[in-house]
Amino acid sequence: MRIGVHVSIAGGLLESLARAKRLSCNTMQIFSRSPRGGPAPARTDEELDDFDRARRAAGIDPLVIHAPYIINLASPDRRVFGFSMALYQEEYRRAARLGAQYLVTHVGSHRGTGEQAGIARVAEALNRTLADGESDVMILLENTAGSGQGLGYAFEQLAAMRAQVARKERVGFCLDTAHLFAAGFPIHTEEGLEETLAQADRTLGLEHVKLVHLNDSKSAFDSRVDRHWHIGTGQIGREAMRRIVTHRRLRDLPFILETPKKTPQDDPRNLRTVRGFGVTRKGHAHETSRTRSRPAAR
Ligand SMILES: [Zn+2]
Ligand SMILES: [Zn+2]
Repeated sequence: MRIGVHVSIAGGLLESLARAKRLSCNTMQIFSRSPRGGPAPARTDEELDDFDRARRAAGIDPLVIHAPYIINLASPDRRVFGFSMALYQEEYRRAARLGAQYLVTHVGSHRGTGEQAGIARVAEALNRTLADGESDVMILLENTAGSGQGLGYAFEQLAAMRAQVARKERVGFCLDTAHLFAAGFPIHTEEGLEETLAQADRTLGLEHVKLVHLNDSKSAFDSRVDRHWHIGTGQIGREAMRRIVTHRRLRDLPFILETPKKTPQDDPRNLRTVRGFGVTRKGHAHETSRTRSRPAAR
């Protein structure tokens, strides 16, 4: 299976890669800059080339960039929208320079101006960003927990955004399991997971879902509260997590964990739990001695 974690870029790009390698990841997600604002670090061509070479050598694929949280592509405020657009276009170029395959994007908040207007603004932002023809980085719109006036908690909203984009081949989706659960998709039960995936297939098209953010949830079902938790010990629970990871429609997708990192043992333990669910690289679900006896990453 393809599994990785969101790793910190503290200490530089090569250090983030070293973190992913120590955890035996074969995919990873990073912020290209501080997610809450501030200037982006300047990167030399040499630094970027070194990172790209080292990442390929480490077999880390795909590389996923998560766009900064401060961007609101649905904002009705022209100043906020303009600032968000500029930052997002820069982020899209940076993702290409980093050699990333995917740029995960939160679709933002309409701030009380209504769903349709918000969706139209996001689509405008995506169209303007993708108008530049040089990149093959794919934008992945992420589903949300549905708090406040945030968009993206309903599949129809995400599908409507993509439908209004001209270069559809460059827009896909990322499903976050904690967000699904908090938004009221009953993925903690067997029937609920089937229903959710059938609905995703009808609205988004499962072939356009390129990534799963695999997180358990500390907050309750349908609470609209976004609280990621350790795999198997949250409200979604271990058996439901196993069903998600081994599901035939999901198991070949890359999984990225965005679980809490309170101690250095947290990432290794969460990864061990998921690997213990036993999906082989070809995606057939069974427990193998190889996955069970894999030495614990430090
Ligand atoms: Zn996210
Ligand atoms: Zn996420």
